[in-house]
Amino acid sequence: MRTEQLNPLSKARLSVVGLGPGDDALMTDQVRDALANATDAFGYFPYVERLSGLEHLRLHASDNREELERARAALDCASEGRQVLMLSSGDPGVFAMASAVFEVLDLASAEERERWAGVDVQVLPGITAMLAAAARLGAPLGHDFCAINLSDNLKPAAVIERRVRLAVQADFAMAFYNPSSASRPEGFARVLRVLKEECEPGRLICFARNVSRADERLQVHALEAVDASMADMRTLVIVGSSTTRRVGRHVYTPRSYGMQTRG
Ligand code: SAH
Repeated sequence: MRTEQLNPLSKARLSVVGLGPGDDALMTDQVRDALANATDAFGYFPYVERLSGLEHLRLHASDNREELERARAALDCASEGRQVLMLSSGDPGVFAMASAVFEVLDLASAEERERWAGVDVQVLPGITAMLAAAARLGAPLGHDFCAINLSDNLKPAAVIERRVRLAVQADFAMAFYNPSSASRPEGFARVLRVLKEECEPGRLICFARNVSRADERLQVHALEAVDASMADMRTLVIVGSSTTRRVGRHVYTPRSYGMQTRG
């Protein structure tokens, strides 16, 4: 009943959906229904590739540097009365396409506004990489934490370094998205230098690569043993707070600062 309310077939609709971190079992039923009812799907090549088995969908893949153009094209397609999906991995509101769609709507010309007026935009959440990674590791985000995108495509490197430094000083655990890529090999190295200045050498750093996929890899190291080559663009990095610790094979952050440590 609820799903029908979200997906009436008669209305021009753009659904911005999160596919989750990789494993289809981590996709919500709401997103699965949206996939079944849509006519068109727009997204970055690898995300569109995940839907290649769905023959009822017209697929529109594009490069990840063309996000605003992709959002405009999806709105145009929906304004023709089609049921359109905009794909993100993880959650669409976390460093992904939902903001891009709203930016395009916000900056639209009068002519675009008129064309897109009948399109109903909805955002359907997904499991974001940091939550999937945290669950595999244990509970490293079990106390206060923040998420920082290390890509300097859309913000200056100095802003990233300042946020990381202040987050360490505030003793947040941190999740780093987009730690490194072929076009930005030096970014993570710079952030590591900040961490080494601000944290004790034993601070726990977790590297979760391709979480929930067949080639998933999880690694936990003390900061002093970490180097920049340990993270690539398929890795989610979690930096513990000062209280984050190991128990057995797991890593967790206690909920309280007052917790007794074992003698
Ligand atoms: N909207 C996505 C994030 C997009 S930014 C989400 O909510 O998860 C892309 C970054 O997300 C990657 O560089 C990586 O840091 C992280 N990421 C996405 N999927 C991942 C996965 N399965 N395993 C590890 N990291 C992942």
